[in-house]
Amino acid sequence: MRAGRARSKEREWSDCHIAAAVVLIGGTMKAMPTTVQAAKPLSAPQKALHKLGLYRDIDLALHLPLRYEDETRIVKLRDAREGEVVQIEARVVDCEINYRPRKQLIVRVDDGSETCTLRFFNFYPAQQKALAVGQLVRVRGEVRGGFLGWTMLHPGFRAGGGDLPNTLTPIYPTVAGLPQSYLRKAVLSGLARADLSDTFAPGDLSPLSHNSREGLWTLHEALAFLHHPRPDVSVDALMDHSHPAWQRLKAEELLAQQLSQLQARRARAALKAPVLAPATGASALHQRLLDTLPFALTGAQQRVSTEIASDMARAVPMHRLLQGDVGAGKTVVAALAATLCMDAGWQCALMAPTEILAEQHFRKLLAWLEPLGITTAWLTGTQKAKERRAMLALIESGEAKLVVGTHAIIQTKVKFHNLALAIIDEQHRFGVAQRLALRSKLQHEKMEPHLLMMTATPIPRTLAMSYYADLDVSTLDELPPGRTPIVTKVVHEARRHEVIERIRAQVAQGRQVYWVCPLIEESEALDLSNATETHSEISAALQASDAKFTVGLLHSRLPPDEKKAVMAEFVQGRTAVLVSTTVIEVGVDVPNASLMVIDHAERFGLSQLHQLRGRVGRGAAASACVLLYATGDAPRLGEAARERLKAMAETNDGFEIARRDLEIRGPGEFLGARQSGDAMLRFADLATDDAILQWARQEAPMLLDRHPALAHKHVQRWLGTKSEFLKA
Ligand code: ADP
Ligand code: MG
Repeated sequence: MRAGRARSKEREWSDCHIAAAVVLIGGTMKAMPTTVQAAKPLSAPQKALHKLGLYRDIDLALHLPLRYEDETRIVKLRDAREGEVVQIEARVVDCEINYRPRKQLIVRVDDGSETCTLRFFNFYPAQQKALAVGQLVRVRGEVRGGFLGWTMLHPGFRAGGGDLPNTLTPIYPTVAGLPQSYLRKAVLSGLARADLSDTFAPGDLSPLSHNSREGLWTLHEALAFLHHPRPDVSVDALMDHSHPAWQRLKAEELLAQQLSQLQARRARAALKAPVLAPATGASALHQRLLDTLPFALTGAQQRVSTEIASDMARAVPMHRLLQGDVGAGKTVVAALAATLCMDAGWQCALMAPTEILAEQHFRKLLAWLEPLGITTAWLTGTQKAKERRAMLALIESGEAKLVVGTHAIIQTKVKFHNLALAIIDEQHRFGVAQRLALRSKLQHEKMEPHLLMMTATPIPRTLAMSYYADLDVSTLDELPPGRTPIVTKVVHEARRHEVIERIRAQVAQGRQVYWVCPLIEESEALDLSNATETHSEISAALQASDAKFTVGLLHSRLPPDEKKAVMAEFVQGRTAVLVSTTVIEVGVDVPNASLMVIDHAERFGLSQLHQLRGRVGRGAAASACVLLYATGDAPRLGEAARERLKAMAETNDGFEIARRDLEIRGPGEFLGARQSGDAMLRFADLATDDAILQWARQEAPMLLDRHPALAHKHVQRWLGTKSEFLKA
């Protein structure tokens, strides 16, 4: 994995070099993308087009410029202003290579009004030739005044003379190996060939715009305009996407997304699922579990349990998300749903993203359900073959009513007797394909199991209306009683020793402490050495005190058995401090832990910080979270990191954290590529386009009912093969 990444970086670098060469030489790329024949290998730029997801003409037509350059005018140097980006046309009067202070090509040009010096630190012989004395060149760049007159550093240039374009020049988002000139031609030919006929009348858009005339853009007009805007257009409106051409595209995109969600929802409604009507009477597992629980359900737990039960009692597969902050008590809700399923005579599966988390669930569920006589099977990728075979047999025969595990549950070898309820914890950590695989585990004809997904990362309202329009949501908005709020402190690395002192104090009171080591993405080895060092540091500090306290160390290199052992020691209170790389993950439940230290907190994402913090504050003791940060060589933290730490210090509310996360990162990153199945919004912005989203929500059912063929065409055009992903 890591080696692979390093290799691809190397390759990108050399591609990049080639691309730069081509761009700088300019105008030499004649090749046009043609229909790919199976026998012909793809050229590098064609591969790069695919990398950008540009396969069809319509994909190219929808590949919009990042920005524009104005090459429609030529400015005389005499009229240029300091710092302005201008295009000049001038003749080369001098061209030489200097070696001091470093090698550079220095070209002097004269446009008849004044002269200007062009400097290039990287250049190719071909460029030098194109800039030979006497050549007429068109140069575009930022002019700087100086002691020796105007200069431009690394300007773009091309041969002079010829007509000026009469539209702005689009600059497209690209990747290494794909020069602008090639991409531009590909996009324009795609635009010319694509079928851009409207799937909805432009007039339908008028409610979006106060100025109804402005609403009347067709798709064709909008795209033609955005690829070649007239120079007199308001660049601000283009850039902030408020221009009517942009409005059309946003409406198109949101409509496609709503349509595909609606299609998925209707497809699901046509499926069958086992009816899991609640069994009554004192012998029902459900009732017996309620009777034996060591606590009473909160009002929120009761409410969501009822919502889930009524879904499961229907012959249509449930597709419900249970969201609730860390510690809100989702597990017991899942267990209650499982008992309903088992009462009706069916199997239930619970899948968690990591082994530690799965094991936590397993232990908890076992403690609740074993006394009621339920056989539970355990499945992970790391278990011994013999144990695994035994588990598979239990599952296939139906003797195991409940199966708990990791991804191992969805492997093809796992055959259920009659799976009727699939529960996925931390659902955002699973991909679409994995969700689909779990749903296909019910072998009965044309039936699917009910699906209950759980998450501690609540989904902001706009996302719920768009990406999760196909999902029913239940919310646990109340924590179990008796929790004390966690106090969060943001502390500079320089005060690390004070934090270690604080650990000693906590431990001396019989409390336990987590220390989460920094996330080091590039290197597992560094991760490890870091954790090991911290472990010795804290061990030494605690040895110095009178009582003997032990410190555990948990990292991803440990074999699963040892991981479990380290975890078990901490759960049982035999280790006072647990130093860990981020493997401790979500879901670990040690009520006696009252202090969480996150080292290099600035490197963590907001929802991850919130998840980690949720490991403490589970008991009645006052708990704290210390976010240790360092700025490295920089004088202060970057803007986004500062916002994250500030949000953590200001609120404990997972919903508020999710909202801020969305604000800081935008929905694309918030969802993550896995979650979105690559079908993220490219044009619309959920933070600002609420009105268009509402319009699309209203419009989608009408279009689908009255003009199914147009609706289909619309979804295909916008989502193509990606629409499959939205169904999971
Ligand atoms: P999460 O929603 O983060 O998965 P858990 O299900 O792990 O939360 O619950 C956190 C803790 O709260 C567990 O120890 C659980 O047993 C306990 N708990 C859950 N519901 C209640 C309740 N109604 N009253 C008291 N404690 C509860
Ligand atoms: Mg949980």
